[in-house]
Amino acid sequence: MIEERDDLYGAESAQALAAEVYENYKQFVNPPLARVMKISGSPVEVRAEGCTIWDQSGKAYLDFAGGYGVFTLGHRHPRVVAAAREQLERMALSGKTMFNVVLGRAARRLAELAPGDLQISFWCNSGTEAIEGAIKLARAATGRAKIVSTVDAYHGKTLGALSVSGREPFQSKFRPLLADSVAIPYGDAHALERELSDAAAFVVEPVQAEGGVNIPPHGYLQAVRELCDRFGALFIADEVQTGLGRCGYRFACDRDGVVPDVMTLAKGLSGGVIPVGALIARAAVWLRAFGDAPLVHTSTFGGSEIACAAALAAMDVLEEEGLVARARERGEQLLGGAQAIATEYPTVVREARGLGLLVGVELTHEGYGGFIIPEMLRAGVTAAWTLNQQRVIRLEPPLIVSGAEIDRALSALGQGVAAAYEKLGTLPTDSAR
Ligand code: PMP
Repeated sequence: MIEERDDLYGAESAQALAAEVYENYKQFVNPPLARVMKISGSPVEVRAEGCTIWDQSGKAYLDFAGGYGVFTLGHRHPRVVAAAREQLERMALSGKTMFNVVLGRAARRLAELAPGDLQISFWCNSGTEAIEGAIKLARAATGRAKIVSTVDAYHGKTLGALSVSGREPFQSKFRPLLADSVAIPYGDAHALERELSDAAAFVVEPVQAEGGVNIPPHGYLQAVRELCDRFGALFIADEVQTGLGRCGYRFACDRDGVVPDVMTLAKGLSGGVIPVGALIARAAVWLRAFGDAPLVHTSTFGGSEIACAAALAAMDVLEEEGLVARARERGEQLLGGAQAIATEYPTVVREARGLGLLVGVELTHEGYGGFIIPEMLRAGVTAAWTLNQQRVIRLEPPLIVSGAEIDRALSALGQGVAAAYEKLGTLPTDSAR
């Protein structure tokens, strides 16, 4: 029961809890965010399990925002929670002066699952840190500085990752960013050919997630592989959001059957229980960069026992529960349903596209989204914008989602789109971001 769990976190009522959180956000967390969340009717998350989040009043929401890809195994998968709990009783964080058993095992397991000969991994705590590591590794391995990235990419918000991410409003206050970073159109191998000869690396998402769920043409990553080989630049695949089953492949690179030189991971890697990030590189590349300098790239919290124990359990669950195949199957159901809604309301939805359980619903006008997402929330389903393309609503549920839950989410989306059409009519087509 709710009372027994104290889902009100000691507050006297649901209203009191909501008021307390809002005040804290307004004064101590992020005043403008507090305002935006209040206007959009954001409730307070108090508990989560599987595909469901409960708010302060006990209302359940199907989580189709999915923590932007964190909750591949759903919330609090019992095997991951048990592994983390067990590790907590032994040793939570690494003392760093001695060998760490669980880090060694997690690194070995990741190398077994990763494509081709990707072998040596560096463990950190977030996606952006994994990208920072990959950029440093590329510079050290090649002796070159330039990093090529793609327009509309999203790789994170620390300064290096931000320099290779493609949204002006996120960058403008922080210039100058990393020198020698160049963005080319996504999916365009000819543009890459023109930029690569003096580059340390090309960093690319196998599917651009925050850029609006953009899927490159088949063969693009093979062309990337060939060009990187020809010019001696590293191929960095950012699988922070697409990796570990999300796209119906173990890694989205597998769709093109390519092995990058470096792959970055985070989000789903530790099963949605403990923060984690990692990069994994080919041994020769890693050794060329860091082989003579064991402490040149480190992290105090990275590779902690508790995160690695969670990651080990999460990798086992992914494989043993057949979640990669499941993502592909359920992804077809979700995409098919979203496309049917697009066909019914072409003046509101321009297109639905996706790979596995990463589906983007592109609207004809950004204004519709501000109506549809709150409407879905009222119907008990979370969804979210993509960060670099506000005209696209992403649907990114846990890979354990059931067919019936997908039907419920589609029905909420359909209601939201219908309500937006009734309320707002036909808005002019929008090219804004
Ligand atoms: N790379 C990609 C592809 C991402 O989608 C994200 C986060 N949306 C990041 C990197 C940054 O990850 P984090 O927020 O954990 O720093």
